[in-house]
Amino acid sequence: MAEKPKIAIYGLGACAGCDQAIIDLNEVMLQVADAVDIVLWPLAMDFKYSRIQAMQDGEIALSILSGSVRNADHQKMAELLRKKSKIVLAMGACACFGGVSGLANFCGKEDIFNWVYRNAPTVINPTGCFPQPETDLNGYKLTLPEFFEHVFTLDQVIDVDYYLPGCPPPPELIGNAIVATLAGDLPPKGSALAPRKALCDTCPRNLRKPNRMEIRSFRRIHEVEADPDECFLAAGIICLGPATRSGCGETCIRINVPCRGCFGPVPGVMESAPKFLSTLSSLLVVERDDEIKEAIDSIDDPVGYLYRFSQPSSILGQKIAKKGLEN
Ligand code: SF4
Ligand code: SF4
Repeated sequence: MAEKPKIAIYGLGACAGCDQAIIDLNEVMLQVADAVDIVLWPLAMDFKYSRIQAMQDGEIALSILSGSVRNADHQKMAELLRKKSKIVLAMGACACFGGVSGLANFCGKEDIFNWVYRNAPTVINPTGCFPQPETDLNGYKLTLPEFFEHVFTLDQVIDVDYYLPGCPPPPELIGNAIVATLAGDLPPKGSALAPRKALCDTCPRNLRKPNRMEIRSFRRIHEVEADPDECFLAAGIICLGPATRSGCGETCIRINVPCRGCFGPVPGVMESAPKFLSTLSSLLVVERDDEIKEAIDSIDDPVGYLYRFSQPSSILGQKIAKKGLEN
């Protein structure tokens, strides 16, 4: 009997939501498990890393990696799985763009450590110590993976073949991606295995979008009772649908929550945030400087909102100049 293709599933700096989305394939997962040999999936099964290390280079047909790269352990596993795999799929907003954890790039490592290990109200740390990569204790050396200065996307660390955005990606797209990979039915390397349209093009509220939108100020979702059929933007609520790739099934929109951009930019656009700002500025009908300032001030935490899933992949700078992984 021919050997089954080997698959590895691994979460780096991940919340396990992407793994959960794979489990949500339900019965399809049983068919996948029947057709492939899952050689690594720490969230679901017990494996030994030494078995992966002992494999030939390229022996794994597909590695599905979720999560961003925040520490030396993530880097080591990403590099190992790259070496042993024919195809690496970056799964989820964290692996593709840095994800929610990438918001940490608005601070430096020292800011984060100071808060988490010294200044947070629930912390008791009289010596003010921080975790160290190496600690000598009773003649033993204890080690921890080194925490990097920044959060990195997967493709800033290893070569990535395909991308599957979303936080998490819907099971249907995950199933399609696995089937397409195993069948060798894949688009050019570097493609996202997701639809090409913008979310507005598939959104049911688009039907109620006025031909000409005019926005004077912005409101936050909790400040209004949003009409469940009306376009959020037309109601002055920030919705990133015009600049975000579709494929999520409009999950947030359908529960009356505007799009926050987890599917990343539409094809041909490098970043969603500037694209969205350009859309927004064409809809604002304010002219005087004070009106413009008032409208902009009514957007709460614009950077946090626009870069919620994508700061590490942004071409914009960071609070602390980005350094290489060795730093
Ligand atoms: S993309 Fe979302 S679900 Fe997946 S690991 Fe990141 S935060 Fe979790
Ligand atoms: S802006 Fe948001 S609510 Fe309006 S059509 Fe686009 S995705 Fe739908």
